[in-house]
Amino acid sequence: MSTKEKSENNPKLVADWNTLIRTFIKPENGTTEISLNKYMEQILFGLHDFLKKHVGITEEMSVRELSERYSDTTIKKNPQKKLADVIKDIILDIAPHAVNVSSPYFIGHMTSAIPFFMVNLKTIVSALNQNVVKMETSKVVSIIEKQVIAKLHRLIYQRDASFYQQHVQNPETTLGCFVEDGTIANITALWVARNALFSKRKDFEGVEKEGIHAAYETHNINKCVILVSRYGHYSLKKAGGVLGLGNKNVISIDVDENHRLDTNSLYQTIKELNRFEKKTKILAVIGIAGATETGKVDPLGKIAEICHENKIHFHVDAAWGGPVLMSDRYQHLLKGINLADSVTIDGHKQFYMPMSCGMVYFKNPTITNAISYQANYVLRPGSVDLGRKSLSGSREANSLILDSALKIMGTRGYALLIEHGIDTAKKFAREIESRCHFQLIIPPELNILTYRICPDGIKRKLAQAAPEKQIQINRKLNEINRKVQRIQRERGNSFVSRTLLRLNHTEDEKIVVFRSVLMNPLTNIAILKEILDEQEKIYLNHFT
Ligand SMILES: *Cc1c(COP(=O)(O)O)cnc(C)c1O
Repeated sequence: MSTKEKSENNPKLVADWNTLIRTFIKPENGTTEISLNKYMEQILFGLHDFLKKHVGITEEMSVRELSERYSDTTIKKNPQKKLADVIKDIILDIAPHAVNVSSPYFIGHMTSAIPFFMVNLKTIVSALNQNVVKMETSKVVSIIEKQVIAKLHRLIYQRDASFYQQHVQNPETTLGCFVEDGTIANITALWVARNALFSKRKDFEGVEKEGIHAAYETHNINKCVILVSRYGHYSLKKAGGVLGLGNKNVISIDVDENHRLDTNSLYQTIKELNRFEKKTKILAVIGIAGATETGKVDPLGKIAEICHENKIHFHVDAAWGGPVLMSDRYQHLLKGINLADSVTIDGHKQFYMPMSCGMVYFKNPTITNAISYQANYVLRPGSVDLGRKSLSGSREANSLILDSALKIMGTRGYALLIEHGIDTAKKFAREIESRCHFQLIIPPELNILTYRICPDGIKRKLAQAAPEKQIQINRKLNEINRKVQRIQRERGNSFVSRTLLRLNHTEDEKIVVFRSVLMNPLTNIAILKEILDEQEKIYLNHFT
C-alpha cells in the first residue's frame, strides 16, 4: 500500500462481517442513529439552505475544476467513511455545486421545486424496496399500481364506471404502465403501435418475433414513417432508431402560425403518401400536448379525426401537459386527448414527483398484448406480473408516490399549481411586451414561453428589411442573446434556458431565444421582473 493510500484510509474502518450485518438490520449504532436522523432532517428540510446561494451552473467553481476533483477511478479496498460522514460530505461538498432547481429564480427547465412530502414518499419507496416487475416481490403494490393507472386513465379517457370496474384489477388487460420517464413512455407507445401494425398473420409471426425486415416483406413495403410537428421531442427520434424504423423516418409536419401542427399539411402528407408511396406505411401520428420548447398544444381533436379516417395509431405526447387535465379552467386546451390510442405523461414534470417517473396510457385495454412476454420463473400468464407487458424489467413502486400525492393534493391542489403557472406565464408575456428591449417570440398557451432581446429600433428595421438583411440582423441578435444568457447563468442569480427556433418568416434561419418554464409556485411576477431587469442590464452594459 502506498503511503498516499494509507493516509486516505481511515484506520478504524475495516469491512468486517459483524458490522456489515448490522447495516442490514439497523443503521450502525445508537449515536450514529442520532446523527443520521439529524442529517436526514437536514436533507428533508434544509438542503435548500446549502443550495440557496446560487442557481444554475455558476462559474464559482468551473465544471473543469470539478472534473479534476472527481477523477480518481480506484475503488478502495477498505471502507473510507461512515454513512453519517458520507451524508455530511454530500450536504457540504456536493450539494453546493449541484443546481438549485428549487429556486424561484430557476425558470429555465422542466425540472423545478417539489413539495417536501415527495422526499418522504420517495424514502418510503426505497425502504419498502418493492419490485413491481412481479407479484411475488410487490403483492398489494402491484394492485395499487393498477388502481392509480385506472384513475389517470379515467382522467384522460373519461370512460364510464362499468368500464373501470371491468378493467381496474383485470390481470388480462392493461390501461397503462409506469416507466422510467417520458422517453421510455414514448418508445413504449410506439413499440405497441409497431407491433399492433405488424401483428401475426398467415405465414408471419409478428414483428416482435420476426424482425422489421420480415415485417416489411410480408406487408410488401420498404419504409414505415411516424408523423409529428417540427416541435416533436427528440425521444421520438430515439424511438424511430430503437424500433428499427430509422429515425430519418420520423417526419416533421409543418406548423401553423400558432406553432401547432398544421392539420392541412398533415392531411396532405397522408394523402400523398397513400397515393404515391405504396411502399410506405404510416406507423403513427403524434400530437403534442405541451411542446417542450413552446408549450403549445396541437389540435388533438382534428388530428384524431384524420387518424381515425386513415386507421393510423394516434399517440399524444402529453409528457408535459397531461396534468393540465386536472384544471377546470384549462382542461379544454387538451380537448380531444381522449381520442388518442396512447398517451405519454411524465410524473416528474407537472405531477411534481421526484426524478424520475413516466407513464403511458392506452385507450384499448388489450393493445399491450402486442408486447407481452413470459418467463417461466417470473412472468406467469394470467398473473398481475406487471413486467409482462413493459419495456423495463425491475422497477420501483413509483405508483405509491403518485397515489399518495393525489391524496395529499387532490386534483384541486394540482389545479392551483397548474393555473398559477399558466397565469404567471401570461403576466410575464405582458411584461415582456411592455419593455422596449424585449420581443415576445411565442406567447404562452400553457406555462412555457420564449422571448429574446430585440430593441424596438431593431424590431422596426426587421419588419422592413429584405430577407437577406433580416438574416444578418437575426445573426447579430443571436450573438447578443447567446451572450446575455451565458452571462446571466454564470452570475448565478437566476437561470433562463436558451434554445434555437426556426420561425416561418425566417425559414431556414434559426433564432436564439430565451425559454422559460413557469412551474415553481414561488415564482411570481416580481421575480420575473427582476430577471428581465438583469438581462436588460447585461445587454446595456455589453452591447450599447
Ligand atoms: C420532457 C418531454 C419528453 C421526454 O421526457 P423525459 O422524461 O425527459 O424522458 C417527451 N416529450 C415531451 C413533450 C416532453 O416535454
